[in-house]
Amino acid sequence: MDKSAELAKVASDLEAAGVTANLKATATQIVPGAGNPNADIMFIGEAPGAKEDLLGLPFVGAAGKFLDAMLAEIGLNRDDVFIGNIVKYRPPGNRDPLPEEIAASIPYLKRQIAIIEPKLIVFLGRHSMSVFLPELKISQAHGKPVRKDGQVYLPLYHPAAALYNPGMREQLLDDFKLIPAIIKKLTN
Ligand code: URA
Repeated sequence: MDKSAELAKVASDLEAAGVTANLKATATQIVPGAGNPNADIMFIGEAPGAKEDLLGLPFVGAAGKFLDAMLAEIGLNRDDVFIGNIVKYRPPGNRDPLPEEIAASIPYLKRQIAIIEPKLIVFLGRHSMSVFLPELKISQAHGKPVRKDGQVYLPLYHPAAALYNPGMREQLLDDFKLIPAIIKKLTN
């Protein structure tokens, strides 16, 4: 099986297992993640919002446009990276995912990571960071690469949080620009 087929199997297994069936009941469709299955960089957000739910694609609303602009700043686009979320269905009213919804979704996120084998995992916000690096605080950890169990992670502020907060936005832009140097180091 190639990586795209393996990723499709993760999504269908999640559906078949009834993971976050409560969210599925109110969502339009699953948002399993999208991009290059052979990417060196994988971005992980929290959960799909309204526009993501409608289109079945991650980060296609306002935060996603900001993410696209930051990718362009470092000479990348969506086809160069993989973008996913912890939780694969939109929580109603864009509420935060519940701890049990996150817990149920984590094994499938980990399977996606194992298939893609990214050199760098970039956390978009504290929720995805907390799954892997629960001891860290985003206010301290943003922009600092961490190596843990052989995987390199970069925590960043969430683009939706940074969008309307000028200080955080500047910081996120600065942190984002560290990505090419980190990747260069990891591929040499
Ligand atoms: N915010 C997220 O965390 N994920 C999305 O896909 C969109 C907005």
